[in-house]
Amino acid sequence: MSEKILRTIDELESYTDFSVDRNEKDELEDIIFDHPMAVTEYYLNLMDWDDPDDPLVKMTIPSIDEDRGTGLLDPSGEKSNTKIRGLQHKYSQTALLLVTNNCATYCRHCFRKRFVGISFNEIADNMDAIIGYINDHTEITNVLISGGDPLTLPTDKIIDILDRLSVVKHIQFIRIGTKIPVVLPSRISEDAKLTQFLGDYSRNKKQIYINTQFNHPTEITPNAVKAIDKLLDERVLINNQTVLLKGVNDNAALMAKLQQTLTRIGIIPYYIFQCRPVKGVKNIFQVPLLKGNRIVSSARRMLDGPSKRFRFVMSHKEGKIEIIGREGNNLQFRYHQTKDSSLEGKIFSREVDEKSCWLTI
Ligand code: SF4
Repeated sequence: MSEKILRTIDELESYTDFSVDRNEKDELEDIIFDHPMAVTEYYLNLMDWDDPDDPLVKMTIPSIDEDRGTGLLDPSGEKSNTKIRGLQHKYSQTALLLVTNNCATYCRHCFRKRFVGISFNEIADNMDAIIGYINDHTEITNVLISGGDPLTLPTDKIIDILDRLSVVKHIQFIRIGTKIPVVLPSRISEDAKLTQFLGDYSRNKKQIYINTQFNHPTEITPNAVKAIDKLLDERVLINNQTVLLKGVNDNAALMAKLQQTLTRIGIIPYYIFQCRPVKGVKNIFQVPLLKGNRIVSSARRMLDGPSKRFRFVMSHKEGKIEIIGREGNNLQFRYHQTKDSSLEGKIFSREVDEKSCWLTI
């Protein structure tokens, strides 16, 4: 990638109006040591430094509050679902493959902060063993390639991974989880080799879906639309997974505008995720469940059918739990995708108070 990526507080200070005193700078440098900062110049240019509450700044520039919260390192129990290093198998039909720990821009709300940008311990290092496992598990219908951000890998490496998966007969489709359309769209629009390969693969081998993460309407720029158009031209389909984030998109009208705009440019609104109780994340970004339900319900009332195809979900250890509505102080939930298939579709309700941000089951 030729794009400039800012990784230090010094660089931030020299490229933007960002400024902090010596003490705060020391604290931020400690935070970056544990959870690295990276921001593409492209994404940086979308920020409004005159706005102290700029949502894009909040999502990507470290805050000293990251050091002050409690929380979990692995709230969705990913380690317990790991079968081979870099391969998780939680849901019977889906294999999750972690192929890199690198991202073009690190999100401060990332739920994989435990290793993203810092450790390779959970990244695939034996593709033969992984392909062998998938071959042996004929119940697997799809592979989700994730990380980190797989599209930060060299194009030839991406091609190699996809080529290896293409020979597994029972895989019906492949998903690639990436924020590249949001933070570095030129990576897609300027790499014809990559987009043509994805197109050939989608037409002739396995359908490819991109799972991306637009969280705010400001991110939907002409450059982002150009990258999306390139993918759609190649019959690569695109799902969006918004994370509900305090101070970023915890507003019904804004959330509705985001989902509507995504639909207009050809992206399928797939999920709105409740922010997970990650250490250094939950104290900054989590929206209480009742408030989240109010925001999502009001956003739905503003939207046409295609724009509200998303489900509002929590990615729990047991699986994906959809928040379906409220009756009095009770929130109603439905198991949408589960580790234990006997729970699938089960509806239940829990009394939650105005401060609860996660469900204890
Ligand atoms: S792009 Fe994804 S993996 Fe990377 S920091 Fe953001 S949320 Fe985490």
